[in-house]
Amino acid sequence: DYGLGEADPEVRGIIDKEKERQFRSLELIASENFTSRAVMEAVGSCLTNKYSEGLPGKRYYGGNEYIDELEILCQERALAAFNLDGKQWGVNVQPLSGSPANFEVYTAVLNPHDRIMGLDLPHGGHLSHGFMTPKRRVSGTSIYFESMPYRLDESSGLVDYDMLEKTATLFRPKLIIAGASAYPRDFDYPRMRKIADAVGAFLMMDMAHISGLVAASVVANPFEYCDIVTTTTHKKRQMENEMQIFFDDFISIGLIKFNGNAFVQSLRGPRGGMIFFKKDPVLGVDLESAINNAVFPGLQGGPHNHTIGGLAVCLKHAKSPDFKAYQNKVVSNCRALASRLMELGYKLVSGGTDNHLVLVDLRPLGTDGARVEKILDMASITLNKNSVAGDKSALVPGGIRIGSPAMTTRGFSEKEFVTVADLINEGVQITLEAKRLVSGSKLQDFMKFVTSPEFPLI
Ligand code: PLP
Repeated sequence: DYGLGEADPEVRGIIDKEKERQFRSLELIASENFTSRAVMEAVGSCLTNKYSEGLPGKRYYGGNEYIDELEILCQERALAAFNLDGKQWGVNVQPLSGSPANFEVYTAVLNPHDRIMGLDLPHGGHLSHGFMTPKRRVSGTSIYFESMPYRLDESSGLVDYDMLEKTATLFRPKLIIAGASAYPRDFDYPRMRKIADAVGAFLMMDMAHISGLVAASVVANPFEYCDIVTTTTHKKRQMENEMQIFFDDFISIGLIKFNGNAFVQSLRGPRGGMIFFKKDPVLGVDLESAINNAVFPGLQGGPHNHTIGGLAVCLKHAKSPDFKAYQNKVVSNCRALASRLMELGYKLVSGGTDNHLVLVDLRPLGTDGARVEKILDMASITLNKNSVAGDKSALVPGGIRIGSPAMTTRGFSEKEFVTVADLINEGVQITLEAKRLVSGSKLQDFMKFVTSPEFPLI
């Protein structure tokens, strides 16, 4: 049996290039972070060999005594990470990722064509919450269920709860979904609970982006108000000491500055998903059996046991004392970034942030997220273009989304995030310069000259 380098130098080479890219860039994508060596060891282990359809103690394959032990440990750690009482809450740790986890919930509690309401994608919501355009039902969620998104109040940049209430009263959804991919503020869970109760809907929170902040009690707690909570397991994590080994080459050649002892351990899982559900029936539905059956045999086959192993490792870390310090740092760094951007004159959606991300509206400057993303990418500053409320085109959206988790993991504090804001500002200015060149009369006139018969193509 050969190691990867010998067995497949081509793939080894690609992995090495990606590793180098991750270290030489400023990673500002709000949904990304660096997982630990311990998690990667579990993910790259023999657990990947085993089939184990079913749940612990009720499998369709033999030889699962250790897999059962692992999955039970993972479930216990998941409940503990969010301070949940196992008598009131249960969890399924088998979802393959965030979108499947959400669809499994819909399969569990809805019938085909039942009505749902989630935050509209151009206003910060996620595809899997029912996105559709006037022309096309884009997400599977909107193909199989009737979706009526709620939106932001465009003047404040906050969820328009009054409108949500009015629309829900008329539309009478069976499920209301809280949670977002690009919303810099907390959700008002008490208000959403009231609306859901008034129309007889389940209330689900997709906390994928903020699960680390929830576990550390840095943001409001959705478990107090929701019936079901889903999450991905790969966002918002941080690095531990072992990770320094991974960084050593880069530190020695001065590519990065890393204070490896400052932050230790947090929820930094492999790519996966979890579904938490209330154990008591809700609206006459036994969520535990409905959700477990929707995961398997409803939508999945054998669980990815290597992922469950990695998840168990990261959930252990989520109970460590440094976890809260890291999550607080993520938020204070993000606030420093937001303040500096506002000082530089940028318009932020909602006027700031309560969490790990800021959404910058570039439209007042006369540019867009796509152009700025491209320019910054050339400078190894990695972030993403993002729709902002009122955008006309999803392909050329008016904003950029910037997140603090990954660079906080690498030891950045407020001072470095101020520099990040300054560098992003330089990128935006260069984008505007490029636009000036392209639309300037000197270039335009010269191009007319170049395309005249004086300079034929052939
Ligand atoms: N839910 C939210 C709020 C997300 O932001 C995302 C991904 O960005 C997902 C779900 C989907 O997760 P995955 O990409 O793992 O399917």
